[in-house]
Amino acid sequence: MQCPRCFWLEVRLKVKRPSGPPFQINKAIDTLLKKEFDVHRKAQTTHPLIKEYDLELVPFQHEKIDYWRNVPISGVYYVHEPTNLRIWGGVDDIWVNLNTGELTIVDYKATSKNKEITLDAEWQETYKRQLEIYQWLFRKNGFKVSDIGYFVYANGRIDLDGFFDKIEFKTKIIPHNGSDGWVEKVLLKMKACMDSDQMPEVGKNVMDSRKDCEYCSYAKARTALTLEHLQPAKKTGKAKKLAA
Ligand code: SF4
Repeated sequence: MQCPRCFWLEVRLKVKRPSGPPFQINKAIDTLLKKEFDVHRKAQTTHPLIKEYDLELVPFQHEKIDYWRNVPISGVYYVHEPTNLRIWGGVDDIWVNLNTGELTIVDYKATSKNKEITLDAEWQETYKRQLEIYQWLFRKNGFKVSDIGYFVYANGRIDLDGFFDKIEFKTKIIPHNGSDGWVEKVLLKMKACMDSDQMPEVGKNVMDSRKDCEYCSYAKARTALTLEHLQPAKKTGKAKKLAA
């Protein structure tokens, strides 16, 4: 769904885009939310937040729940036969409607914004697709899955008087009406891309279509500078030393 060139560089040449430091605070919130919902999973009761939104759902109790959540050790996966690709991911939570047996995919998110949290930003399409991939994976694993998934979105408050070793969060549930119709098409495109010997064209910036991709801007600027510095050195026979 993103730029095919970076995908190709990673899978064919093992050249990965640089990544930032891990989001440990977000991980901590995920872990605590899991513990909190697990209490209700065990008791098969409705979490107060689910009750607040009038949803007839409880956390899904299944022998593989930890296996499906435990990335990168395990996770939920499916081998897509037409491409022989093993599609895999770690779900945050699954809720179930006890009357119909239908599953609902849930993803936990955390942020800190001085305004109401929505899913309207362009870059949040990646969140929606993440949820839709999990819906697809659970359907392929034989479960009945609702098109509606939920984000449990925690917003760290910055309107308070101080830190005092504590951040207060306001958590809300945001529904997303998912569609996994795009998944098969994208898997075929991925397979064609990775099998190609040609480096693909640069694609669009999916996080913000108004801006150039910051990785490519950096790579281009740096290459241009390197070449510029290399030119005079060539004349003096120092090119080899500089290049090294
Ligand atoms: S535009 Fe961005 S994603 Fe695409 S090749 Fe350049 S760095 Fe990679």
